[in-house]
Amino acid sequence: MADLAKMRNEIKKIAQRDDVKYVIGYEKGTYGWRVSPSFARTPEEVDKFIFSPLCVNNLAVYLVLEEKLPLPKDVEKEKKKIGIVVKGCDSRSVVQLIQEKAISRDDVVILGVPCSGVVEPKKMKEMFGKEIGTVAIEDKGEKYVIVIDGKKREVLKEELVSENCKTCQYQNPVISDILIGDEIKEKREENYSKVKELEEKSTQERWDYWKEKFEKCIRCYACRNCCPVCNCKECMAEKTTPVWIRRSVNLSENAGFHIMRSLHTAGRCIGCGSCERVCPMDIPLSKLYKKVEKDVIELFDYRAGLDEEEKPLLSVYSVDDSNEYIL
Ligand code: SF4
Ligand code: SF4
Ligand code: SF4
Repeated sequence: MADLAKMRNEIKKIAQRDDVKYVIGYEKGTYGWRVSPSFARTPEEVDKFIFSPLCVNNLAVYLVLEEKLPLPKDVEKEKKKIGIVVKGCDSRSVVQLIQEKAISRDDVVILGVPCSGVVEPKKMKEMFGKEIGTVAIEDKGEKYVIVIDGKKREVLKEELVSENCKTCQYQNPVISDILIGDEIKEKREENYSKVKELEEKSTQERWDYWKEKFEKCIRCYACRNCCPVCNCKECMAEKTTPVWIRRSVNLSENAGFHIMRSLHTAGRCIGCGSCERVCPMDIPLSKLYKKVEKDVIELFDYRAGLDEEEKPLLSVYSVDDSNEYIL
């Protein structure tokens, strides 16, 4: 992980620029060991920025959350840029947003940080309980050195790292204006073993699997709200003319929501794992989106969020496309 002092210095240079509105990074959270998104409008505010394997949030979601209200006739649109700290997966969301014209490349200053993986908060909670206070964590290759309230522990990285990070192929940011820290030698191969296990089951068995998961969903929409590519002004799940999904929480409506969301994020999901991470009902959403990602690669040889010049998958047609997706 990047040297913190060097990182803050680089970010301060961006935060003090007149053409930059604020920089989005991470700071220590108010609850135990949790980390929160942080917004620095001045170089002084950058002093609270941190970066560690606890920085799990995909901050790119904040690039599209700001409400853009209509302006009075004689008021000009603010042209200031937003600085953002990105790991590999987050950087792919930024590329995807640029591709889809949700943001413009000129609107952002991208501070890329090579990433060797983040810890899974749910695993942290299981291992240490939820009441733990201050935690300092250092990535030492095969293990994490964790200091909890002054007491040092060593944990095998394998046991604590996020499942998404275990198969991540883009640990280095795919886009950045400033790269903070040394690039990581990426060596992982595509791994869809969990998806393949499900694919080998019968249709009935697969339905039984997802039925049991979808039945638990309480439709809190946390998965949608934390997702940078799920950024429609009005979500189809909330449309009333026509109603696509009813408000009642039952298997049919829940399955409708999940099938809709997985199709709407096809060719757009960059596999950050945020949706699964925030789900209070432990629904294995990554498995669903990994399946769609695998299908998109097989059908269209397309990977989301890699090239800002590329056209979004579902906005183009090629005569070479296979017709297998046409019902
Ligand atoms: S998915 Fe990759 S870039 Fe993202 S947190 Fe994990 S290792 Fe880092
Ligand atoms: S976060 Fe979980 S419980 Fe909430 S809507 Fe998404 S899948 Fe359902
Ligand atoms: S669907 Fe989930 S994994 Fe994919 S980009 Fe959105 S939050 Fe990340």
